[in-house]
Amino acid sequence: MPKQLVVQKFGGSSVANADRIRRVAARVARERATGCDLVVVVSAMGDATDELLALAGAITDDPDPRELDMLLATGEHQSATLVSMALHALGVPAIALTGAQAGITTDGKYGKARIAGIDPERIFKEIGAGRVVIVAGFQGQSQVDPGLSEITTLGRGGSDTTGVALAAALEADRCQIFTDVRGIYTADPRLVPDARQLPVVSYEEMMELAHQGAQVMQVRAVELGWVNNVVIEVLSSFEDVPGTLIKEDPFVEQRNKVRGLAHDRNVAKVTLVEVPDRPGVAHAVFAPLAEAGVNVDTIVQNVGHHGTTDLSFTITRGDLAKTKRILEPIIRELGFREMTTDSAMAKVSIVGAGIQNAPGYASRMFAALAEAGVNIEIISTSEIRITCMIAEDQVETAVRALHKAFSLEEPEPVVQDQAGEAAASSGGAAKTSA
Ligand code: ASP
Ligand code: MG
Repeated sequence: MPKQLVVQKFGGSSVANADRIRRVAARVARERATGCDLVVVVSAMGDATDELLALAGAITDDPDPRELDMLLATGEHQSATLVSMALHALGVPAIALTGAQAGITTDGKYGKARIAGIDPERIFKEIGAGRVVIVAGFQGQSQVDPGLSEITTLGRGGSDTTGVALAAALEADRCQIFTDVRGIYTADPRLVPDARQLPVVSYEEMMELAHQGAQVMQVRAVELGWVNNVVIEVLSSFEDVPGTLIKEDPFVEQRNKVRGLAHDRNVAKVTLVEVPDRPGVAHAVFAPLAEAGVNVDTIVQNVGHHGTTDLSFTITRGDLAKTKRILEPIIRELGFREMTTDSAMAKVSIVGAGIQNAPGYASRMFAALAEAGVNIEIISTSEIRITCMIAEDQVETAVRALHKAFSLEEPEPVVQDQAGEAAASSGGAAKTSA
């Protein structure tokens, strides 16, 4: 039987200091002793990326994007080389590679580059030589100008993407994301003490949860897993307990319920009052925001009355000052009455593939929030999600009320497929294919 190939990714908290790095190396060595080949992806140690960003910020308000990416990439160089040395100390042959050395090419967008391709030749060569390959996460190299390669980074949390992309490209048998929690929960356990760990969550549900604020996995990594059908295991690097599998879930229809809650405190709301109700106005507002890289989340426009309408939208708090600056001249030009903003907003979401085609979830959500005295300011939905914008200081109340209203603390009924396989416990065989 050919050897199994396992990709393991360790997050920043798992490699935060020398002690933890030694523990990661010990875990990797244990896995290798079972007879598999290993590619290990690491994030930067602890808050190293934030510290590098702060250093750049202390030098200039406006760091050059190319230089900044080169600087940020060093965080992962540190952790990768140290993990490799820790393996050497255990007598395990290992080599650390930068993203570029690992064959990861990207487009040229500094700070948020997307992976364009992976040439696995070097990695396979090192594996063939009997080494564990440690890859610096969160980075690649761009080949926009032939002969002039540049280091790029993949956006915050991008090591998840490195891990999943490598699992797909190498056709790994398993893709494990080690983190500081045991897996995906029905809600943030720090807010909801009886939040329950989910054994399985579908790609679609995980995308929505991650997008709406669940911080365990980067959205793009989940998307990449979905597209390439990589089964992703999220598990604790500190405890030896089963994690959560992110994969295609054929039992979604049968579960027919809310799977989890997500919340996000980083929300600001902008309302444009008495906007002229005529063609071209929305474009005039949102085009310059898009150009400036402001990510607009939910947009709500009311039915017009007497030739005007109100327009509200949400953004992340960090973009509020920029948004105001961009819109002030436009307001004067187009003749709005005023712009009001609220930076202390948050959103809470219920997510579950079973929500689609089943009526009643919205009204249950609104009833639970009403009973808890939480005012809903904006509502938005997708097929498998309902999101309410609320005041930030009510997040905890809201999340607890919703967790209770949808009985998320109760174990899900085990659904059986025709062959009698129990869906909720279909862990273990996490075969991935690219
Ligand atoms: N070190 C990078 C960050 O902090 C990438 C990662 O951790 O995945 O965003
Ligand atoms: Mg991270």
